Amino acid sequence: MTPALETLLTTDLHEAARFIQRGELVAFPTETVYGLGADVFNESAIGKVFAAKGRPSDNPLIAHVSHQDQIKQLAADIPDDAQKMIDAFFPAPLTLVLPKHDRVPLLASAGLQTIGVRMPRHDLAREFITACGTPLVAPSANLSGSPSPTTWQAVAADLLGRIACILQGVQTEVGLESTVVDCTGDAPVVLRTGGVTLEQLQAIVPATRKADATDLHQPKSPGLKYRHYAPHATVVMVSEMNELKGNEHAAWIGLHAPRSSDWHLIKQCADVAEYAHELFAFFRACDAQGIKAIYCEAVAEQDLGVALMDRIRRAAHR
Ligand code: AMP
Ligand code: MG
Repeated sequence: MTPALETLLTTDLHEAARFIQRGELVAFPTETVYGLGADVFNESAIGKVFAAKGRPSDNPLIAHVSHQDQIKQLAADIPDDAQKMIDAFFPAPLTLVLPKHDRVPLLASAGLQTIGVRMPRHDLAREFITACGTPLVAPSANLSGSPSPTTWQAVAADLLGRIACILQGVQTEVGLESTVVDCTGDAPVVLRTGGVTLEQLQAIVPATRKADATDLHQPKSPGLKYRHYAPHATVVMVSEMNELKGNEHAAWIGLHAPRSSDWHLIKQCADVAEYAHELFAFFRACDAQGIKAIYCEAVAEQDLGVALMDRIRRAAHR
């Protein structure tokens, strides 16, 4: 066993940036979820990311930039459709998969000749990346398999003693991971749904399409084959509330209040955005309270509802 690290908690982004410059790992807030950052050009630091998370080495990392100029350091080429999406959306909860620059270690892309690139919308995230002076690889800052962290406390619960530093910020705004779009083929393909919707992408590049079974089978986006976002409790998706009864070991989250009040925990959200914002924090709160089953109300599969339903389905699938 490697001895536990002392994890520094700080709100000082310059102090946090110095750890990145020394080849250490720093968890930092973005608008989607907290990321676990490492210098994209430092192979030993990238290795630490996989070790700290217990992440399989065939699951590629997303590189984060604070300025559009940095994309050229990461991508060998920026296809026209990708450039249109960059111009229209960046900074955004949107990751574009591009042909990888030789300088980026293959360890970051899990051996692929492509690299996912994102510019976060969250100001603190971009200021932090700028202070580091290098783009950062940053997967979600959780132990592999558990729900992505939307608060610094959730990061600490998973990674205290495993990483050098946590840059403390507020609870993340979107609450779900970025939309991932593959821009290396004939037409852009949405590999993972997220805060930027298919309709918004199609308004800029009409040929953009959803991934079909072949895209996901290849697998184009290796990480998608792993179980994700799941709490210890069993997750049940609820489309029909009529007959539903709670019990002292069960929790409810949705847009409506359940009929009965005999639940251990109830979270009623005002809209789909709040539901997405709260989902992973709710999963973690339920686990902390020893809840056995979490019932999640289904929502209409439009706009952000598509990504929310995707995450609930993945959490429910065992
Ligand atoms: P995470 O950072 O934990 O949200 O996971 C990032 C996910 O983005 C991975 O699991 C992949 O599904 C996807 N991804 C990252 N880089 C690539 C790439 N080069 N090609 C395809 N998918 C990617
Ligand atoms: Mg993740």
